[in-house]
Amino acid sequence: MKHIRPPRPELEYLVPYDAKDIKAEVMLAANEHPSNLPGEIVEKIAGRLREFRFNRYPDPMAGRLRELIAAANGLEPHNVLIGNGGDELIFDLLLAWGGPGRTLLDCPPTFTMYAIDAQVSGTNLVRIPRGPDFEVDGEAVLARLAEGDIDVVMLSHPNNPTGTLTPETLLIDILNATDALVLVDEAYFEFSRHTMRPHMERHPNLVILRTFSKAFSLAGLRVGYVLGHEDVIRELTKVRQPYSVDSFAQWVAATVFRERVVFQQAIRDIMRGRDMLMHGLSSIEGVKVFPSEANFVLFRVAHAAALWRDLLHGHSVLVRDFSRTTGLEDCLRVTVGSDEENERFLEAVEDVMSQRRAVEILGHTEAHVRHGTAGELGY
Ligand SMILES: *Cc1c(COP(=O)(O)O)cnc(C)c1O
Repeated sequence: MKHIRPPRPELEYLVPYDAKDIKAEVMLAANEHPSNLPGEIVEKIAGRLREFRFNRYPDPMAGRLRELIAAANGLEPHNVLIGNGGDELIFDLLLAWGGPGRTLLDCPPTFTMYAIDAQVSGTNLVRIPRGPDFEVDGEAVLARLAEGDIDVVMLSHPNNPTGTLTPETLLIDILNATDALVLVDEAYFEFSRHTMRPHMERHPNLVILRTFSKAFSLAGLRVGYVLGHEDVIRELTKVRQPYSVDSFAQWVAATVFRERVVFQQAIRDIMRGRDMLMHGLSSIEGVKVFPSEANFVLFRVAHAAALWRDLLHGHSVLVRDFSRTTGLEDCLRVTVGSDEENERFLEAVEDVMSQRRAVEILGHTEAHVRHGTAGELGY
């Protein structure tokens, strides 16, 4: 045959997730932890690596890790499911509660995987845009839920990429208004310190997502988990890939979770770094900063895409460009790094902005920006 039979028609307009594998000296684009695992934990792992049974299939349900996470959250192991990163669990939720003829509600701008997974799984998507401060439009969400056709709701809390927390009272109103599965995505829980966990008993439709990728320095290993009613977890186990969480990842994540107090100081440092970044950015003329409860800060600035390029090419600082995302026009997101990285980022933004102002005084900005030469000219 000279031809390939086409894949599902839904794929035609899907663009592969672009993880932007760009290298820079200062990497502040992916909300990763600025530091590798603490040395004492690496030593522990290294010491026992020789006996590790690489030849055996993993425990499909990651029993040990599951028990630890259940106990820490005052739950039973049957209330916990471990996944290959939180991303896999989001997809599993849509395989089980979404699919053709079923509907997901989300509140953009938000984590893009919800919409991508909806498309891949053939789930209808209803989008209720956030307000001017990226707050969830509670009235509109509740009105839409009242129509009765929503099967699953996904809310990032705090919201990636805006940093916004949703008032607990509104989340409870949503849980009361629907029997749809409501995923409260707490990927940044360790920084926001807010969780819906206390409401699980009263609301069996509440599912909470967490991850080891952000506060626990494990983005490279891919481990996340959901907390939910045992009936929900049972359904999810029907659609999941049985061996998706490899035994090395299970073992390292369990070691990290057992030793999690070790991470508290770094988490406090990151929260302090976030305040420093918010303060530093807001004191730069022309920059508007949005308050954040996570380990990143969203800010708005004229010609954001040009700033993104100048930060990368002029200063080797990589942040995330959202300027082409609806509702995030002229917005960039910076992940909180180490103190040195945060300072280098702020100095770089100040440098680019002050050069911009100098050129503006000469009256050249418009022409250069229009022709896309701002980067090459180095301002
Ligand atoms: C990072 C993130 C996740 C999960 O990330 P994994 O690395 O797949 O565990 C989930 N939701 C949001 C909003 C995130 O930002």
